[in-house]
Amino acid sequence: MIVGVWDDYKCWKCHEKTRVIEWSWRSGDGEMWTENDQIGLKLQQMFPLYKKDYTRSAGAFYYSNHCSNCGTVQGDWFVVNWVAHQRVEGRLPSDVVKLKMDPDTVGLASSFDG
Ligand SMILES: [Zn+2]
Repeated sequence: MIVGVWDDYKCWKCHEKTRVIEWSWRSGDGEMWTENDQIGLKLQQMFPLYKKDYTRSAGAFYYSNHCSNCGTVQGDWFVVNWVAHQRVEGRLPSDVVKLKMDPDTVGLASSFDG
């Protein structure tokens, strides 16, 4: 699993800069948020602001980015679009962390079959 750390995302609510992370599997398949506790807790250990919260747009509890200043959930689609925009402009994450985790170890492999 590859985690990109971005330090200058602007919170939609308080407009302060906050850190967000985005992650993808080594294969390149990306998932911005997760409801899988094995993935979520591992990421939360390293990035405490990535935590489980109720996401109204999804109608469920998901792990997602939170503002370091005001604690508000950062909408995943906004973060995804923002990151994509940064990459288009040639910017790179502040940090890239590789974790030893893949779909097999978290029991997701079977869900990829169907
Ligand atoms: Zn904020």
